[in-house]
Amino acid sequence: MEKVTERFIRYAKQYTTSNPESETYPSTERQMVFMQKLADELREIGCSEVELDEFGYVMATIPANGVENVPLIGFVAHVDTSPDFSGENVQPQIIEKYDGLAIHLKNGVSIDPKDFPEILNYTGQSIITTDGTTLLGADDKAGVAEIVSAAEFLLKSKEIRHGKIRLGFTPDEEIGKGTDHFDVKKFGADFAFTLDGGEIGELEFENFNAAGAKIKIHGRSVHPGSAKDKMINASLVAHQIIAMLPPSERPEHTEKYEGFFHLTDIKGNVEKAEVSWIIRDHDLLKFEEKKKLLTSIVQKINLDYGKTVAEIEITDQYFNMRQKIEPVMYVVEIAKQAMLQAGVEPKIKAIRGGTDGARLSYDGLPCPNIFVGGHNFHGPYEFIPIPSMIKAVEVIVNIAQLASKMKK
Ligand SMILES: [Zn+2]
Repeated sequence: MEKVTERFIRYAKQYTTSNPESETYPSTERQMVFMQKLADELREIGCSEVELDEFGYVMATIPANGVENVPLIGFVAHVDTSPDFSGENVQPQIIEKYDGLAIHLKNGVSIDPKDFPEILNYTGQSIITTDGTTLLGADDKAGVAEIVSAAEFLLKSKEIRHGKIRLGFTPDEEIGKGTDHFDVKKFGADFAFTLDGGEIGELEFENFNAAGAKIKIHGRSVHPGSAKDKMINASLVAHQIIAMLPPSERPEHTEKYEGFFHLTDIKGNVEKAEVSWIIRDHDLLKFEEKKKLLTSIVQKINLDYGKTVAEIEITDQYFNMRQKIEPVMYVVEIAKQAMLQAGVEPKIKAIRGGTDGARLSYDGLPCPNIFVGGHNFHGPYEFIPIPSMIKAVEVIVNIAQLASKMKK
């Protein structure tokens, strides 16, 4: 059997960056190339029902081994890497028995415990880093490698009893389109887990509720010399609206379960202006209140000017999966148990962002997220300790066994 480390390095070297500008699905042909190889590999290790569809999703089955009438579980990971940083010609470096000092890579990139103190948790362990010129892509090739390695292990270990297991590999997660064409019905699992979390022990079943808001402001441009009581400066109206939002509810002043208004774009002149925000909150009520607040600010502005100078458009983007997981909390319990059995302390926390699992949960597939073991995703400081990857494989195998003891 190929070790999870070797498998991960082999995947990491393949160029699979997604592209937010693309109109195709998957967004890049290189992801399709990766998926084709992945499908071949899954067939080789003995998976059945291996299928690559036109959108670039690979699904596969580990047939049941001696257990029936148990829940059908699934594992999901994404193959693309973030367009935020180069993912071409990735050259993973293995740092044997990390000594607790700064790791110096190319381009003057150093992973220094002064900047990243969490790396000291892995002193004495072997760690995989980039060479300094690219990201590593442990997000989420580590997840892919861990699932395939666990699958190979389960397929070869005839003595381990388990029910039918489905594997799903998705493109374009990093550009927010990872589940656009994911066929939950065809996948057929009762519940699943995304392997797309960070450090060892991470277990997540909460994420933000999310919306985008755009305010268009219509000004009235008049020669400034004769503007008294006539001019409406759209840019200044934008400024007024921005100032009416609580400064404490900005990303730079919030953490944990605190939501925010994040101003993402602003442009304007006297005649017109446009301001965009993203609105985030874990709590559905507070989320709705935030949307109402922005709407009421616009109403107030229009009232003050005695006409419609500002128009608001709010679009919901995704919702907190907690609402869908709470009725099936045993799914989280299984993951917790699986970690404890592997000697891993579960670290349950709320994602301050979205996740593929959230959309899948709303599509009827409850899908918490578990760790792959990596740190500092999306850039050259990315690293992943090898023992964390091995633990992730163990957790997958444990989940398979725990689920086989449940009644469907
Ligand atoms: Zn990811």
